[in-house]
This record gives sequence, C-alpha cells and structure tokens, in this order.
Amino acid sequence: MSQAESQHKFATRAIHAGQKPDPSTGAIMTPVYMTSTFVQKSPGVIIEEYDYSRSSNPTRKALEANLASLEGGRSGFAFSSGLAAMDCVMHLLSAGDHIILGDDVYGGTFRLVDKVYKQLGVTATRVDFTDHAALQAAFTPKTRLVWGETPTNPMLRLCDIAAVAKIAKAKGAMFAVDNTFATPYLQNPLALGADIVHHSSTKYIGGHSDVIGGVLVTSDEQIAAKLKFFQNSVGSVPGPMDCFMLLRSTKTLHVRMERHCANAMKVAEFLAGHKAVQSVAYPGLKSHPEHALASKQMRGFGGMVTATLKGGMNESRRFLERVHLFSLAESLGGVESLIEHPAIMTHASIPAENRAALGITDGLVRLSVGIEDVDDLIRDLEHALA
Ligand SMILES: *Cc1c(COP(=O)(O)O)cnc(C)c1O
Repeated sequence: MSQAESQHKFATRAIHAGQKPDPSTGAIMTPVYMTSTFVQKSPGVIIEEYDYSRSSNPTRKALEANLASLEGGRSGFAFSSGLAAMDCVMHLLSAGDHIILGDDVYGGTFRLVDKVYKQLGVTATRVDFTDHAALQAAFTPKTRLVWGETPTNPMLRLCDIAAVAKIAKAKGAMFAVDNTFATPYLQNPLALGADIVHHSSTKYIGGHSDVIGGVLVTSDEQIAAKLKFFQNSVGSVPGPMDCFMLLRSTKTLHVRMERHCANAMKVAEFLAGHKAVQSVAYPGLKSHPEHALASKQMRGFGGMVTATLKGGMNESRRFLERVHLFSLAESLGGVESLIEHPAIMTHASIPAENRAALGITDGLVRLSVGIEDVDDLIRDLEHALA
C-alpha cells in the first residue's frame, strides 16, 4: 500500500485497499484468477510474483492486502477456514512449548490445542484473561504464545488487549488476538500491542453466511516470514472464488457493522427490560462488567447479544421454537439474524461443570443480530417471549 493509501480512513480502505483496476482490461473488480499455474518467460523468470497458486494468487493477494490494511498491519494471510488460520499460528511452536489460552475461547480453538497439538507435545493452560494475576501466574519458562478472544463467545466478556500485550511482552511470548467478534472496524489489536490478529472470515468479514475462511495479520516481519512459509508449506489456502467473495464483502463491512451495532443495542435494551428475561450480556449496556473497557477499546459494541431467560430448558426451547425472523442456527455475523442455544448447540462439547462455571446455563440464548429492520426483530422476540 502506498503512503497516501495508508492514510485513508477505514471506509475508503475497505473499498479500495489492495485493489486496482485490472491493467489488461480496465475491469474495476479484481478478477477471479481461476488458475493453478502461471506461464514463465524463461525458466525461473516469472511475471510479478506468481508461479503457482498455492504460493500466491492475484485474487488472494488483493484480499490479503485489503485485510492487512483494515487491521492496520503490514502483512495479511488468507486461509481456507478460521481454524486453518489458527493452525498456521500453532506451527510457530515446537514440541515442549506452552500456550496460554483464554478460558472461554471458541470450542474449535480449544479442540485444536487440546486434541491435535497436545499429542504433538504442546501444552496449554486456560486462564480468565480478566484476572491479570492468574494470567501472570500461568506463564512457564516454555510459554511462547498467549491466545485470547475479545469479546468472548457466548458470554461477551472483554480482555484488556493493551494490558495483556504488556504482560506477554514482558514474558517474551507472542500475543495473538482472535478478533472475529469485534471485526477490524470495531477493534484493532495490533495498534494495542498484539503481535498477530486472527479472524474467522466466515463471520462478519464474509457477512453473508456463504463462505468459510480465515485470516491472519501481523506487522512483525519475522512472524510474517514464518507465517508465509507455513501457509505455503501446509497449503490450507482459500480458492480464488472465495477470495473474491470476501473482497466483495469487505467493501461493506463498515456499513454493515454500524447497523449490526445499532440493532444489537436496541435488542439488548429490549431484552433487558423484559419480564421473562433474567439478565442480558452486551458490552454496550452499562450493566456489563467491562462496559468502560469496551467504550475505550472498541469503536462500537458489536452485533452479538446473549440473554439468560427466567426458567430453564423448557422456557428457552419454547422461545427458540417460536421465533420466525431469527433463524435457529449455529454461526454468526451474517446480514440475517440468527439465534441459538449454546448449551445444546455451539458449546455442547464443553463438559457440563465447565459450562456452569462459565455461566452457560440451560436458560442461555445467543443472538447474532442482523441488519433487518430492528422494529421487526423486536416484534419477533416480543411474540416469542409472550
Ligand atoms: C467460527 C469461529 C472460529 C473458527 O472459524 P472457522 O471459519 O469456522 O474455521 C474461530 N474463532 C471464533 C471466535 C469463531 O467464531
């Protein structure tokens, strides 16, 4: 990106960063370069940087540059899923190394560490990142990586990225932040001291529930060189069509997030005032334990809302069966509103006692508030709760 481009504001970078009209035709959209290989002028003499699409593809390169710009980082890397992106970070570690994980990270994140890397000799400790003394105490001489999520899923707790970055730096460990729930529009962990930002682009970055993808961004040249090496060596890269679709999606990320945030705030306020609801977790509510941190660390409070209904399994089941506009489904971050029951659906693999400790009860429902008309959404919830 040129100096002038990097000074543009978010909305301008969302639409233009990493992209220029196709020099051969003037096509304004980056073409879908459906090609596995590239013709060479002479053995080893390649055109631009392209020789084989696992290593580099022009559509993917445009997406990677776009996302790096949105996160305020130097280098971006795209993967075939969010977990494939995390797997690439895990390749920075060796047998005997130790990792510290947030205690309520995404279930697949925990599974990758606990079921795949554990058998390869990487050990892990889970910690509540809001407890800085516990975090400090979790480091061992072998701790190489700290992996956090903020806001978390489904309880929407926040960790202070700048404070955790300082602790990790003092201990000589890398700090990676899964920024999936916040998106680069609402929060930029690299600017707060994180070394790597991770996204499941399946969620808000894609935004239309039609692509599985993952992203890493860093400004550290040594880390970037290793990530590039592992991305090519492992090969879990996205195809050019998926890259094109994500590139189309990032052009509206800022507009979608504004509406997600506005709708979620109204839905959270509605639920908090309803007599069938026991409590609501939303970083934008004053009742949220990290509301002050959210106001400082984020530019908006996001589109996810979690509510605990009075009663238990029967009440939440009845509610989830009676909503019409909110579709009962896993995943999140699309333009359409989704609702789910973490204890039965997304978090069923977490042992019951751990779920209870995290507050994932039978009355808990998680809403991914979409960008439909908010009056219709609230009417739908009102009817289902009646
Ligand atoms: C969905 C998700 C992932 C995993 O991403 P996939 O694209 O499904 O592989 C990781 N972290 C968070 C916070 C997620 O929501």
